[in-house]
Amino acid sequence: LNRDKEGLSAADREFENTIRPAHIQEFAGQPQLIENLTIFIKAAKIRGEALDHILFHGPPGLGKTTLSRIVANELGVNIKETSGPVIEKPGDLAGLLTSLEPNDVLFIDEIHRLSTVVEEYLYAAMEDYRLDILIDSGPNARSIQLSLNPFTLIGATTRSGLLTAPLLSRFAIKSRLEYYPVDTLQKIVMRSASILDVKIDERAAREIAARSRATPRIANGLLRRVRDFAQVLNDGVIDLGITQHALKALNVDEYGLDEMDNRILLCIIEKFKGGPVGISTIATAVGEEPGTIEEVYEPFLIQEGFLQRTPRGREVTAKAYEHLGKKPGAGSGV
Ligand code: ADP
Repeated sequence: LNRDKEGLSAADREFENTIRPAHIQEFAGQPQLIENLTIFIKAAKIRGEALDHILFHGPPGLGKTTLSRIVANELGVNIKETSGPVIEKPGDLAGLLTSLEPNDVLFIDEIHRLSTVVEEYLYAAMEDYRLDILIDSGPNARSIQLSLNPFTLIGATTRSGLLTAPLLSRFAIKSRLEYYPVDTLQKIVMRSASILDVKIDERAAREIAARSRATPRIANGLLRRVRDFAQVLNDGVIDLGITQHALKALNVDEYGLDEMDNRILLCIIEKFKGGPVGISTIATAVGEEPGTIEEVYEPFLIQEGFLQRTPRGREVTAKAYEHLGKKPGAGSGV
């Protein structure tokens, strides 16, 4: 099966698109962000101008792509979608930018993965809606200027720590998407179920919400799996009983932690006596980049009280020991 960088297949993506909210009122949660965006969108429309460039950052599955499409939709403009690694040459960027109509949105996912050359071309495009293209080389080298239609760049990234200062400074609006509270996720699950036309009760939706790593993408994914169980074993009705049965059968963590979350905690407990241990040591031990642990995994583990940051490194908490069925003080091989 072909899976993308987030481990999703084409069928998963299609499923996501069917339940993806298209209007700002359908987007649940992130109240401050939604309030601000609503104002910015209205103001840009009143002035008939392109909306300022926006950066959405935060862990995967929290709604960055969804919001970008909503912004374009609410502005009543087209959106062109691409991603950092896909824009290989300045020419690719020029092709995209020159195809935009006035005030359109260009969405660049994984914007931290743009090459340095492409990024440098982007500066003038963002600032002055202009591209300076260098043609020829050596003594014949000269640059020609292309003027572009005004546009809004929306960048999305899980790794804002990797963005350069000049790029960051060109986004007038920078918003971090936060993990979702259970109440909000419960509403998202109820809404998705109604689009999928499955019966679900509030308690079942809440159970799914509570075990979704505070992430809408995971909540929707679990709903889809639980629906299978409900259709085969429970006349298509998702109640608490079938939900608990399905989540148990699927081996879904009680707190919604994923495999890497558990691997990180287990590694600190078993190899480093619970910590404190430095982030790069942990990263080597679990085979992941330190920055990814810092920006993608750790914030959730800290928020949920499994991990804490100390001046000497990361330390697991009593909750982590309890969750993994380990005893504090027991090192490796014990
Ligand atoms: P990201 O781009 O941050 O990785 P997406 O925008 O692709 O995340 O969202 C993943 C899935 O979760 C989509 O199917 C989307 O419908 C759903 N989703 C994300 N945020 C919300 C939200 N606030 N309300 C409803 N559904 C959401």
